[in-house]
Amino acid sequence: MNGKFVNKELNKILLQEEFTKDDIVYLLSLEDEKSIEILFARADKIRKLYCDDEVHLRGVIEFSNFCEENCMYCGLRKDNEKVPRYRMRPDEIIETAKRIANQGIHTIVLQSGQDFYFDSDMISFLIYSIKNDCDVAITLSLGERSFEEYKAWKIAGADRYLLKHETSNPHHFSIYHDKQKLSTRLEHLKYLKKIGYQVGSGNMIGLPLQTIEDIADDILLCKELNIDMAAFGPFIPSPDTPYQNKSAGNAVLTLKAMAVIRIVLKDVHIPATTALDTIETKGREKGLRAGANVLMPNFTPNPYRDQYQIYPTSVRKDLDPSLSGIRMQNRIESIGRKVSQSKGDSLKMY
Ligand code: SF4
Repeated sequence: MNGKFVNKELNKILLQEEFTKDDIVYLLSLEDEKSIEILFARADKIRKLYCDDEVHLRGVIEFSNFCEENCMYCGLRKDNEKVPRYRMRPDEIIETAKRIANQGIHTIVLQSGQDFYFDSDMISFLIYSIKNDCDVAITLSLGERSFEEYKAWKIAGADRYLLKHETSNPHHFSIYHDKQKLSTRLEHLKYLKKIGYQVGSGNMIGLPLQTIEDIADDILLCKELNIDMAAFGPFIPSPDTPYQNKSAGNAVLTLKAMAVIRIVLKDVHIPATTALDTIETKGREKGLRAGANVLMPNFTPNPYRDQYQIYPTSVRKDLDPSLSGIRMQNRIESIGRKVSQSKGDSLKMY
């Protein structure tokens, strides 16, 4: 096939309103530079249409690295005895949230492993206290918890919940996870949506066994669930896990997946993840040019930050995982975008 024919076919698909799985597989499989450029340009155009040039910052606090689960790919898995475990005190968490809000960031992400030490009341207290002191939206990223807890935290003031489905392939899900099931994960995502959370989900690009068809299914699942944020970052092998010797996910494939999500789902928030920045120079900027409109700077204070290693940030020695404040703003402005002053609620709410 000559280039002209490929571009004609590509342009025809990109202008469609609806996309089949075959269309998505075609887009994810593009290999020549010119075609990939066309894909990214289309995603960027749709991003501008739905999100304008604003980039939303979500300040992340990783307040506990204890976890009851044993996900094969994760450095925080329960069986990893080499990780020094920590829990931040409630006052430390609230102070960190205030620091984030004082920097003009309007979303706080409270993230932890699946740690039941932080029970329903403790999380409600954190949500209530932060909301009382700061004019921010709160995203919870606490793993699978009970429906009663989700409900209590919504009442306490939580706005959003981030729970990645990781893979839409039930067989792969059962391999990656110890006790958890894909059907349960999907029930939780549907319930969170039903009770009014803005819901984020997503996968990891490059997990062992994953095929391009699986990624296409992941994108279609996000569409079916009508999610508000789609977080697709690359898999990075973590030491002392069963997948420590597997290959990392591919940065270009991750960028292609982000672009395809923007083209297919349109009105969703898409983060350019820290993981992408970890494996690819200027990964955040590249992500923002391929459909993304969200960055999630890490505000976890030391000494805790280095102990929250879902994957090792040390793989990029020059990485500053926080890039908070002025440096983050500079990176955003260097590509002609601006930091949003809004809370960045779901695009489906407007
Ligand atoms: S991915 Fe989340 S639930 Fe799984 S082991 Fe890591 S922290 Fe725990």
